[in-house]
Amino acid sequence: MSILNEMKLLAGEMTAWRLDLHAHPETGFEERRTSAMVAEKLEAFGLRVHKGLGRTGVVGTLTAGKGDRAIGLRADMDALPLRENNAFAHRSRTDGKMHGCGHDGHTAMLLGAAKYLAATKRFSGTVHFIFQPAEEGMGGGREMVEQGLFEKFDCDSIYGMHNWPGLPLGQFGVRPGPVMASSDLFEIELTGHGCHAAMPHTGSDPVVAAAALVQALQTIPSRSVDPIEASVVSVTQIHAGDAYSVIPDKVLLRGTTRAFSPAVQDLMERRMNEICAGIAAAHGAKAALRYTRAYPPTVNSEREAGICAAVLERLVGAENIVVPKPVMGSEDFSFMLMKKAGCYVFAGSGPVKSGAALHNPNYDFNDDLLPLGAAYWASLAEHILAA
Ligand SMILES: [Zn+2]
Ligand SMILES: [Zn+2]
Repeated sequence: MSILNEMKLLAGEMTAWRLDLHAHPETGFEERRTSAMVAEKLEAFGLRVHKGLGRTGVVGTLTAGKGDRAIGLRADMDALPLRENNAFAHRSRTDGKMHGCGHDGHTAMLLGAAKYLAATKRFSGTVHFIFQPAEEGMGGGREMVEQGLFEKFDCDSIYGMHNWPGLPLGQFGVRPGPVMASSDLFEIELTGHGCHAAMPHTGSDPVVAAAALVQALQTIPSRSVDPIEASVVSVTQIHAGDAYSVIPDKVLLRGTTRAFSPAVQDLMERRMNEICAGIAAAHGAKAALRYTRAYPPTVNSEREAGICAAVLERLVGAENIVVPKPVMGSEDFSFMLMKKAGCYVFAGSGPVKSGAALHNPNYDFNDDLLPLGAAYWASLAEHILAA
């Protein structure tokens, strides 16, 4: 029987886990019920289980044969701080929290693969099943890496997967090189000299300086970064003043930058410092920039992307492998890919129904993807750790 058909025998069980996880969403670093459920299942499958890495992270280790190679397969477990709009039976039981990104499905697929591989053991080496917390903006992946993920669980290479609404079910997206962007955060405080709005010449207006600064920052992607490289600077918050006739002392701007390489991140940070200082000086104001590196770009290594594509070709056929455009969103699997060679793939989950894409309050993970995603995980392990 093919791996996919064997996984279909586990589809009912994986769906039950997925629906249960969906009904009980937990946000970053609070995945206590979720990680307890994951740990309990992994133990029941016969894996060695480590709890508490990255606070609520769980790692299950499965060894077979005499091989000394090891890989890591990673799923994320956290939900979003989002109020669910769905009315189906498995809707969120917790108001204001929702599995709106499909990490319920990611967790269920990796559990399915663990159950299958523990029962069949048709490989030689070690598979580390990494269930990470807090992917949604809180750096759970970074925390696991910083707390010694790869010192405790050495992996030759590491793999991740995300369900992708809009890509047909049965298709996968694989791309060597950058697949998702860095995400840096910035905060700029512009300080001028407040005064009567009718007599602007008696002060220095940080609001006019802020307007000029928002425009000038757009010259970073258009005039500083090589046009062949993609980058984004978005100012998303402007806070100032609270009266009609008072020019305020201060303006606070916040926003985010995106890029696909650390070199472009460095360039953007440097140019942002220069532009802030120059625009502030031109307006008689002072600028203080706080620039925070939040997530690095997610960069697949050439060799491992090739391995994933070959495994997927055998699973779904070459005609169902696409090379997707890189995505400007970010992903904290990037912290693991900074340390180890590996590959992050997109798993098609079918059409976006009525606008219910990822992070939409009407989104739901497509359970038809469960056996396919689990079959990919298992095939990858059996291929790389071939006995
Ligand atoms: Zn998400
Ligand atoms: Zn996600």
